[in-house]
Amino acid sequence: MTFPSDLDISRATPLRPMEDVAAQLGIGEHLLEPYGRNVAKISLDAIDELSDRPRARYVVVSAITPTPLGEGKTTTTVGLGQALNHIGKRSTVAVRQPSMGPTFGIKGGAAGGGYSQVVPMEALNLHLTGDMHAVTAAHNLLAAMLDNHLHKGNELGVDPQRITWRRVLDVNDRDLRNIVSGLGGKQDGSPRQTGFDITAASEVMAVLALSTSLADLRQRLGRIVVGYTPDGEPITAEQLKAAGAMAVILRDALKPNLMQTTENTPVLVHAGPFGNIAHGNSSIVADLVASRCTDYLITEAGFGADMGAERFFNIKCRASGLKPDAAVLVATVRALKAHSGRYKVVAGKPLPPEMLEENPDDVLAGADNLRKQIDNIRLHGVSPVVAINAFPGDFASEHEAIRQVAEAEGAHVAVSTHFTEGGKGGAALAEAVVAACEEPAGFQVLYPDEADLRTKIETIATKVYGADGVSYAPAASRAIDSYEANGYGDLPVCIAKTHLSLSSDPSLLGAPTGWTLPVREVRASVGAGFVYPICGDMRTMPGLGSHPQAESIDLDADGNITGLM
Ligand code: ADP
Ligand code: MG
Repeated sequence: MTFPSDLDISRATPLRPMEDVAAQLGIGEHLLEPYGRNVAKISLDAIDELSDRPRARYVVVSAITPTPLGEGKTTTTVGLGQALNHIGKRSTVAVRQPSMGPTFGIKGGAAGGGYSQVVPMEALNLHLTGDMHAVTAAHNLLAAMLDNHLHKGNELGVDPQRITWRRVLDVNDRDLRNIVSGLGGKQDGSPRQTGFDITAASEVMAVLALSTSLADLRQRLGRIVVGYTPDGEPITAEQLKAAGAMAVILRDALKPNLMQTTENTPVLVHAGPFGNIAHGNSSIVADLVASRCTDYLITEAGFGADMGAERFFNIKCRASGLKPDAAVLVATVRALKAHSGRYKVVAGKPLPPEMLEENPDDVLAGADNLRKQIDNIRLHGVSPVVAINAFPGDFASEHEAIRQVAEAEGAHVAVSTHFTEGGKGGAALAEAVVAACEEPAGFQVLYPDEADLRTKIETIATKVYGADGVSYAPAASRAIDSYEANGYGDLPVCIAKTHLSLSSDPSLLGAPTGWTLPVREVRASVGAGFVYPICGDMRTMPGLGSHPQAESIDLDADGNITGLM
């Protein structure tokens, strides 16, 4: 029998009414705002109303350095939530909202997979409740008000050469990366070079994810810097009088979206900031709500532990004040084999057939990456749990190799078959997570707010990535100095680098040593609240491949979606 597709599994899942899903969280109907039958927003009043309840154990799901295929963080996050319920613990899952660009591009959807999915997957992967559109609209309103300000006399003295605010769209459209706007006549504006990013890369998306309340959202929007005067004075959204209207557009988008898993475990889906130039974590408000509604709150952080988990600890938890109790590191046989350097895994292509043969030695040869990522969790005082995400075709000897490495490092470890079996298959992982949460919690951020920006960058580079040091291009150094002068020096940093290596070079596998992190450029998301050094080429507007997923997606005569992956 062939294993059913994600879409078939999703469609065959009996869904509970949203009031019942909310009731599992102890959230009454007065706090629920239904959006159709299978999705509801939760009122932000829940944060105050539930504040006297005990706090849930807080668990972040991260991974070893992935292959371009993804190693199953979302699937494991969902599966672990289901598994905790299966062993009799109340649990809730919090994940990012997928971006529609990649859904129609190469990656396909991002609802998890198999019997560990967020359902209905069509709703999750498409418009959901329109939050992405709201972010797009708020972002582009600011762009329009900025251009209008220039057109109407430029009272604030914005230097058109130093405008940093671009436009956004939730479509993979490479032709919009660089454009000239304002063409036409005098009445059509002034021509200048600019471009589009994908909505997930919008600073407004990061603001949505990091705000702790509506008032905080409003203030962060006001602090967004859109450009500079010729003297280097920042110009903000507040000065352009745009932040109030942006907050109005985002008012409903700040409410987290409630859905359910294939086993009816509650899931909060909220915000989807990019994982390289932004922090790649779901929203703080969703976690503030859910942490009072359950015994275990499981949330995913994008990419490997050096990226998503590091930002979860040092950016998200710093802003929210929530303290994690344990961190799950998803490890797969295929990724560890890839870290051995003996195989080449390419996005959108099948795995090399030799890689599917039984070979625990290859797994051990790639194990330095796992060791380093375990270390990266411990650096933050959090207890690591290695989740061996079992793929069909893995061999027991290969799982055993991963277990040996994890145990030798003193980490909790379990094989998990949640993809094929749902929560039942994740029971051992759930027990391991419960055990990790029982250990004394000692969460700490890696650097204090007061450390200067270079110290922060160097701390992450040397302690988390394993670099010898950091080199700065002249432009990067100048930007850091000007940010310190502008008072942004106390912000945390979000280092934009490849997710395919612990280093900034995607071809360096395992746990590379003897290298220097090259900082090419440094930018600031002042509203969201971080400075982001850029190491390597970062695409903020993806393109489409020769055969985008969109070519396979269609509607049948009954209005059912086909081909969504
Ligand atoms: P991530 O969140 O780390 O990017 P996902 O959970 O989205 O990873 O999984 C990446 C892809 O791999 C998805 O298509 C998912 O369905 C698939 N996948 C994940 N785990 C398994 C597994 N154990 N067996 C088969 N396919 C899996
Ligand atoms: Mg994911």
